[in-house]
Amino acid sequence: MDSLHSFGSLLDMSLSVVIPAYNEADNIAATIGEISGHLTRLGATFEILVMDDHSSDGTFDAVRALNDPQVRAIRLSRNSGSHIALRAGLRQARGDAVLCISADGQDNPEAIEAMIARWEGGADVVWALRTDRNDEALLNKTMARAFYLLLTAAGAAPTDGVDLSKADFFLMDRRVADAVNACPERNSSLFGLLAWAGFRQEAISYHRRLRASGHSKWSFQAKVRLAKDWVFAFSGLPLQMMTRVGVGMATLGLLYAAVVIAVTLITGEMVPGFPSLMTTVLVLGGVQMIMLGLLGEYVWRTLDESRKRPSYFVEADSAHPPAHSRARG
Ligand code: UDP
Repeated sequence: MDSLHSFGSLLDMSLSVVIPAYNEADNIAATIGEISGHLTRLGATFEILVMDDHSSDGTFDAVRALNDPQVRAIRLSRNSGSHIALRAGLRQARGDAVLCISADGQDNPEAIEAMIARWEGGADVVWALRTDRNDEALLNKTMARAFYLLLTAAGAAPTDGVDLSKADFFLMDRRVADAVNACPERNSSLFGLLAWAGFRQEAISYHRRLRASGHSKWSFQAKVRLAKDWVFAFSGLPLQMMTRVGVGMATLGLLYAAVVIAVTLITGEMVPGFPSLMTTVLVLGGVQMIMLGLLGEYVWRTLDESRKRPSYFVEADSAHPPAHSRARG
């Protein structure tokens, strides 16, 4: 691993660490302590932004109680998922580079040194890829792999040579953060935006640890939602496929009709066609419904974006406490 101390410029640079946190009261202090320990040892100038994604377990107060001037807690007004929390954090980050890392201690901070070294070496985005997914169920691994193959096929994961199916946390240069902040869209995966943004993207590998406590918040539905957001935000392929499948089905239908006519002319007998008719109607009906569903996904996203609602609101910010306190309830 390259030693950070060989890069003198870090002393002139600053780093923002953005941590999305949802019900991580048990983990957050230890995670912050570990990250700031590493960064202090490296001689870095840094700030830590904990984006509390509307936790119900006192995560915000746990961070505020640390009373650390380098640590800022920002509480969002509703739970929107880690990608929105990260994007909210990116807008607040002031560093020359921004590190996005999770609150649960799984993203091993020992990798930060190598990531900073790559950034100082000229990389604009540095992905930390887990060396293996051995701790995960086979179904999860297969789903992750299939998901990224789908994204790649749809042209929605264009980071050459970086296998995003293993990506967990990442560091980006200020200009990439500015590029992402300039994208107003709501319904989209931050990984997708970063991959799409381009610049010089590199990866390092690291050993992922087990969760310190609590459980993963990525339910099956959340994963499917992220996959849909990613594909529909970055690829028109499903729409293009609709036309291709439609043309294919129509061609098959015409061929089938030609065969029926030919058989009738040759044998002089009508082909008994009820089963084949039903099959055709059902298959075509199903395909049309799927196509309409795909169209609906794009129409819904267009409507959602056109409303131009902010994707999050800040409910509380430890850097700007309210002038007066008010009883709730
Ligand atoms: N997270 C969040 N909002 C959510 C769910 C998760 O901010 O609605 C945070 C969570 O606290 C953690 C990070 O996102 O810091 C990664 O979440 P999780 O541990 O559930 O994902 P996994 O580690 O399983 O990929």
